[in-house]
Amino acid sequence: MTLIDTHAHLYYDSMYNRLDDVLDDAQKNEVNKVICIGTDVNTSKKSVDIANKYDCVYAAVGVHPHDSKSVEKNYLKSLEELALNSKKVVAVGEIGIDHYRNLSPADVQKRVMIEQMELAESLSMPIIFHNRDADKEILDILKQHSFEKALSHCFSSDINFARQLIDLDILLSFSGNVTFKNSINRSAIQEIDLKDFVLETDCPFLSPQSFRGKPNEPKRVRDIALYLSDFLDIPLEKIAQETTNNAMNFFNIT
Ligand SMILES: [Zn+2]
Ligand SMILES: [Zn+2]
Repeated sequence: MTLIDTHAHLYYDSMYNRLDDVLDDAQKNEVNKVICIGTDVNTSKKSVDIANKYDCVYAAVGVHPHDSKSVEKNYLKSLEELALNSKKVVAVGEIGIDHYRNLSPADVQKRVMIEQMELAESLSMPIIFHNRDADKEILDILKQHSFEKALSHCFSSDINFARQLIDLDILLSFSGNVTFKNSINRSAIQEIDLKDFVLETDCPFLSPQSFRGKPNEPKRVRDIALYLSDFLDIPLEKIAQETTNNAMNFFNIT
């Protein structure tokens, strides 16, 4: 059995200071590949460094909506260089819009998302986007700007929005948030086909329900898969096989 954590921020001290062990534990739990996601130029560089060091880690480079207010003039060039200088870079992300916390002005979030979509397009790379309280705006952007492939990370909207994304051939990603008691997407999950989603931890954030308060790590993808296996009444092996397949196709890795 093989699982993939499609969204991890491994450069946080809680994991970075014991990364050999973190990745060993992941392997022991059959989480054999991890995509490390940047949130600004600095953490994108760290993600690439980690991916260059560890076979099982791949990287995505990008600026998060929270950080979009602080981009430097040449940030696109910096991201492009990172992407071009390592074969382990497999996507542009995380980009997106966050109106829940609105840590950057709305117009800046939007501009920086679109600029990075254009970068991804020029690199023929998929995008990974973050969406909080921005369904309509994100959908408009996705309809108005071309992209190769897109992944809606930490999907937490309703089934109608899920269908609108799937209609655009966009892949969804479920994190530990699906295990939360008040998760609004629990019922949505039952209606989404296995071919349309992948799994992620978003570690160190969002520990699954039974581990809340504890630091999250890539190994917890197995707990998310187990939860879904039970909730959807589908064998764990099948969940693993399909979501891993989806992720490998999406990121073009073997
Ligand atoms: Zn995010
Ligand atoms: Zn993230």
